[in-house]
Amino acid sequence: MLRTAEITAELTGEGLRGEQSHRLYWRGTLEVALDCFVCERIGRTTVFERGAERALCSGSRSGFKRHHTAARIAAFDTTDGRERLAVRALVDFWWAPFTDTRDGHKAAAPTSHPWVRLHLGYYCQDAKESGTNSIQTNAMRPNDLKCGHCDRVIAVDAQTPAVRLLV
Ligand SMILES: [Zn+2]
Ligand SMILES: [Zn+2]
Repeated sequence: MLRTAEITAELTGEGLRGEQSHRLYWRGTLEVALDCFVCERIGRTTVFERGAERALCSGSRSGFKRHHTAARIAAFDTTDGRERLAVRALVDFWWAPFTDTRDGHKAAAPTSHPWVRLHLGYYCQDAKESGTNSIQTNAMRPNDLKCGHCDRVIAVDAQTPAVRLLV
């Protein structure tokens, strides 16, 4: 059956604005741990690209290799406010019941508290170079996101990304 999950995340901090701003933005790439009905493994890292009509399951070390799966980003809305950079994404994915071929766990839709990683891009005016960063659910918070070129704090990651199953 087709399921839809909502993923929301937010960054704050004075570094988002002002002269030293690094023009931080959300890249249209998401990684979500989903139970995969194709390789029948639970908690597979699934890579979503905005605009793509399918996603990529990372498979498992033994057996199934990376493969395309029936999942996509259905909506991707960002809010670029004062001292706040937020994103709300809707991901559609196909879910079917199965029992994990390896450890016997039953598939859930979605996995309770699935792991999520969101990707960011920025531009450093000092170095005149772009850079990337990411945030994920299983991280220490609050955490300063720093520029890889000038080491300034770009934003503060104080809130764990939220995942909610809509249908
Ligand atoms: Zn798979
Ligand atoms: Zn910088």
